[in-house]
Amino acid sequence: MSRVVGYLRSLLLLELLQGMVLTWRYLWAPKYTMRYPMEKIPQSHRFRGLHALRRYPNGEERCIACKLCEAVCPALAITIDSEPRADGTRRTTRYDIDLFKCIYCGFCEESCPVDSIVETHVHEYHFEKRGENVVNKLQLLAIGDRLEAEIAERKALDAAYR
Ligand code: SF4
Ligand code: SF4
Repeated sequence: MSRVVGYLRSLLLLELLQGMVLTWRYLWAPKYTMRYPMEKIPQSHRFRGLHALRRYPNGEERCIACKLCEAVCPALAITIDSEPRADGTRRTTRYDIDLFKCIYCGFCEESCPVDSIVETHVHEYHFEKRGENVVNKLQLLAIGDRLEAEIAERKALDAAYR
């Protein structure tokens, strides 16, 4: 019986007709295509984009060179060197992230005990020269300085879920 039904369905081109009805319906439905970059979809406050290193309000860099982010990074994108300072604290002398290797998983941000390394909402960036994909500590701190207000706001929005 099922073979007969299948035969009749294929003979009457029912599936083709169903497809055409669907096409006809979507022809008149409101369109959802965004005209990027003039139009943009809403972005989650958990969006993971370009990295930044943060400072405390007194200007001191947060990073204590514990290297947890380097250890947890599945793409081996982070390279850290460190040494003790005169006051006995440890700070990084090198903090590089290779953005070509990074898969934007957010593990570095999750692992950081002092909320130093974060991923910002910035996703529109490009490189023009070989090697620019490796962002260093000074560049990351500059991004953090520039976006601190937005980073703090997004952290506050997520605080209830942590
Ligand atoms: S987002 Fe993931 S892949 Fe990218 S640097 Fe952080 S831990 Fe590594
Ligand atoms: S960014 Fe955070 S996790 Fe990475 S070395 Fe600095 S303090 Fe440790």
